Amino acid sequence: MPDVAFVNGTFMPLAEATVSIEDRGFQFGDGVYEVVRTYQGRPFALDAHLARLERSAAALDLMPSYSRLEWTGHILEGIRRAAYPEAKIYMQLTRGVAPREHTYPADVAPTVVMTVRELHPLDKSVQEAGVEAMTTEDIRWGRCDIKSVNLLANVFARQQAKQARAFEAILVKEGLVTEGAVSNVMVVQGGTVVTAPEGPRILSGVTRAVVLELARSGGLPVQERCISQAELYSADEVFLTGTTVEVLAVVRVDGRVIHDGRPGPITRRLAADFTGLVG
Ligand code: PLP
Repeated sequence: MPDVAFVNGTFMPLAEATVSIEDRGFQFGDGVYEVVRTYQGRPFALDAHLARLERSAAALDLMPSYSRLEWTGHILEGIRRAAYPEAKIYMQLTRGVAPREHTYPADVAPTVVMTVRELHPLDKSVQEAGVEAMTTEDIRWGRCDIKSVNLLANVFARQQAKQARAFEAILVKEGLVTEGAVSNVMVVQGGTVVTAPEGPRILSGVTRAVVLELARSGGLPVQERCISQAELYSADEVFLTGTTVEVLAVVRVDGRVIHDGRPGPITRRLAADFTGLVG
């Protein structure tokens, strides 16, 4: 079954999907997006993702094209058509098609795009061994809470990580860890789970919220505060959270071994709790 696309209300094979070169997403990065994945064929935490899409769209003064109920219908239909064992659903909303002029065009309908592709889960061996990360300067703009399609700084960071043979780039702003290029970052210090607070410097991850709730309900102390780069290196445990990475141990940062170089007990417990929740 080919990958499925949805453009402004119509389903089609991905290879046939097009948008105008005058789309403001293409010319200005004037748009927002979401990524949702399925477990056992069902979209995970869909309401939280749709709520964040609405928040991101509102921050750009974009009118929501569909209600959550309508989005849910389109997503379920896309999953049904693609018929993959597990799917990754990408949704994008841009300000629409208009002659190139920075200010908002009047009376232009947003462009709504969705793709449904096969999701290949991370290898079990990678999850069990943990991954290596590198740090890099967070050069992104001041509204990282908006899931905007402007991802050039994230693209740079991911490319640096690839060249360094690291799994993820951990972004550091003024000496403080913000998040990963495609994930949130958490550390464990003396049994406490610590992660950067919500605000304009991070994307408030859906997985972040789920994992913090798992930690709290499991009796683990949680602190939402900034972590310095030095604290990152000396943490007992470091892990990433995100739709694609789930809960993933980081065992080395910038070549420095985290604790004993193996996924720590709290990371393993939260990863197991997360698997239990989605399984
Ligand atoms: N931070 C950034 C910059 C991201 O791009 C993502 C996911 O794409 C996340 C965090 C994790 O968010 P979520 O758990 O909602 O996937």
